Amino acid sequence: AEPDGSLVDLLDEAAGRFGPRVALDFYGATTTFTELADQVARAAEALRRLGVGPGDRVALVLPNCPQHVVAFYAVLRLGAVVVEHNPLYTADELDRQLTDHGAVVAIAWDKVAPLVAGRGAVRTVVAVDLTAALPRLKRWALRMPLPKVRAARSAMTAPAPGALPWSELVAAAGPLPAGHPAPAVGDVALLQYTGGTTGEPKGAVLTHRNLRANAAQGRAWVPGLRDGAETVYAVLPLFHAYGLTLCLTFAVSIGATLVLFPRFDADQVLDAVRRRPPTFLPAVPPVYAKLATVARERGVDLTSIRYAISGAMSLPPATVELWEQVTGGLLVEGYGMTETSPITVGNPVAPTRRPGTVGVPFPSTDARIVDPEDPTRDRAPGEAGELLVRGPQVFSGYWHRPEETAKVLLPGGWMRTGDIVTMDADGFITVVDRIKELIITGGFNVYPSEVEEALRRIPYVREAAAVGLPTGDGEEVVAAVVIDPAVAVTPEAIRTSCRTHLAGYKVPRRIVIVDELPYSQIGKILRREVRERLLAGR
Ligand code: ATP
Ligand code: MG
Repeated sequence: AEPDGSLVDLLDEAAGRFGPRVALDFYGATTTFTELADQVARAAEALRRLGVGPGDRVALVLPNCPQHVVAFYAVLRLGAVVVEHNPLYTADELDRQLTDHGAVVAIAWDKVAPLVAGRGAVRTVVAVDLTAALPRLKRWALRMPLPKVRAARSAMTAPAPGALPWSELVAAAGPLPAGHPAPAVGDVALLQYTGGTTGEPKGAVLTHRNLRANAAQGRAWVPGLRDGAETVYAVLPLFHAYGLTLCLTFAVSIGATLVLFPRFDADQVLDAVRRRPPTFLPAVPPVYAKLATVARERGVDLTSIRYAISGAMSLPPATVELWEQVTGGLLVEGYGMTETSPITVGNPVAPTRRPGTVGVPFPSTDARIVDPEDPTRDRAPGEAGELLVRGPQVFSGYWHRPEETAKVLLPGGWMRTGDIVTMDADGFITVVDRIKELIITGGFNVYPSEVEEALRRIPYVREAAAVGLPTGDGEEVVAAVVIDPAVAVTPEAIRTSCRTHLAGYKVPRRIVIVDELPYSQIGKILRREVRERLLAGR
């Protein structure tokens, strides 16, 4: 059914139904749904007094914390638009995004507030002191060395007008009058930047309807979830589309208790298990592998987790096996992108799932596989092609990028995903690779994922990234690999090993052994960065 209220209405419904239930747990400091709704009303009034109104963008530069959740809903309550940012961004990265969307008000972690002040159109910075939400001295829990260094460095150069303290501002404000105009379901809720894996992140414009529709689809996807009885661990960053929806808007839609972690640290997560056992864990593959391994070592019981939903990158079958052995629950893979709120395809959350595939289209979502050269032409059954999707969760365009928008939004409501996929006879979809990262060598197409998979099968290869580097008349396949430091091996021996699994033209012409590969904020290998490093001979 078509949702008729905004995301704020979903929060109000949760507060009405589950008032005294714990909505947020931050290192043991709790906020009930009633308290959350009250704080949102006060924060909204405080922001209103700062001049925030309908359609205004408000920048959030925060790690996962209770204030992040309050700020998110307070901005929405005013009909304004949330723009999420990674608090670990450098001053330059922040500057580009703040300039792009032009928010006047920013709500930032106090450690990075000096980076935000004065950038783009930002005139008012509200600084959030994270330790203010902690019950006792738990500063150790907030160890995050990287931004401190960055903040200190840029504090010297950035203009730093006095930031306003969030907690005082909210405490001083009365609640926003209940009659204050509320957002409509068709209003823009979020300007969410894409992951930045293939280039500069683009701002995807998402409405309340888009996000509510995806929450409702998620509900239908995981039928075993119980309203007002689940505990979701938010280890994914709320500033990324995947974490923001699965761990926040979706979780609130089912009245779940959220346990917030400002960064992923397996020990911190496992420490919380005895206090508040998790039942539902959305995350990315490396998180499952790490948690299962450490839980086993430490003897921590994870059997409370009934469902785990993996996305953002392909899920290795070995991780599924390990996870399900340790927890006894299901780990299923879904697929989506920021532009689609984000999920469009998912495996059944049931033993009928098919590991290795990303599953079938979501309820009320259509999928087509087409020729990427001419997206009006459908591929023959079983043939690889670009995935097109259509559904109520599909965005309305990129912020201030009409050309990019026109490239992906096609007539009839279809959106180009930019991903090459195949579909089996039962409709299960397998992601092959991104069109942008295809390597063309000697007239052949080579998918880097296939080369990387062959390399990862070699026991001493830990990580691999394949890219195309220019030659006189085209491209050649080059791979960067991280190997087990205890093993002495030559690049030539690695090339020989992958010949068993790859046709000659796919075998990397050159293999470079490196100490580490670059990763995106959510943990994807950045092939474009690998390419730049290889070109620069680094
Ligand atoms: P940018 O668009 O800025 O380059 P990005 O595409 O990584 O970055 P996101 O929207 O976070 O930004 O990611 C969506 C992409 O992630 C998809 O288009 C797809 O390539 C990849 N992806 C998502 N889920 C899966 C999955 N289960 N398996 C493989 N790839 C996936
Ligand atoms: Mg993308």
